[in-house]
Amino acid sequence: MVLTPEQKHLRQRMGEMTPEEFRAAAVAAELAEWREVNRFCGKCGTAMAPHVNPDEHAFTCPSCGYMSYPKIAPAVIALITKGRRILLQRNSHYHVPNWTLVAGFVDVGETFEDAVRREAREEATIELTNLRYVTSQVWPFPSAIMVGFRAEWSGGELTPDGEEVIESGWFDPGHLPLLPFKGSIARALIDTWLAEQGLSSPIP
Ligand SMILES: [Zn+2]
Repeated sequence: MVLTPEQKHLRQRMGEMTPEEFRAAAVAAELAEWREVNRFCGKCGTAMAPHVNPDEHAFTCPSCGYMSYPKIAPAVIALITKGRRILLQRNSHYHVPNWTLVAGFVDVGETFEDAVRREAREEATIELTNLRYVTSQVWPFPSAIMVGFRAEWSGGELTPDGEEVIESGWFDPGHLPLLPFKGSIARALIDTWLAEQGLSSPIP
């Protein structure tokens, strides 16, 4: 995913924003992206026109009548535990040294739960049990929503694929590597797990 300088800036600063500030910035970023990629009708190629109702986020094609609304791409992310340890991995497309959780976009025809199980198989070659929804986060990079889960390991040996995932491991709460940045849903899932064990979140 190639992000604009504005999108990269927003991602770097999201940890410093209040939830209200982040929400406002996310709405602006997602609408800007949507306008950018919907200047022409995806069906017939005619220049799109604003919807008759200016309060509605929609473009209308004056030629064929096709209407375009902002599209949100759901992605799943999961904190996976094995006893007292959690799964963390380093991804090749990350330009930072931080470790993170299993995550990925929901594919056509999948439920969120299907997507978590598939990503765990693809990225870590493990099977899961006790999969449950925890929280979600608007993720305007450029127009996703992250759906956060907890799950427990039920089988399989950790095997990073060497392409998308360079390194992975089970980490106990006292020996964590560099974590995802504050403000991200990945970090929130990890911090909640640490708090359950009476531990505070490290800095950074
Ligand atoms: Zn059209």
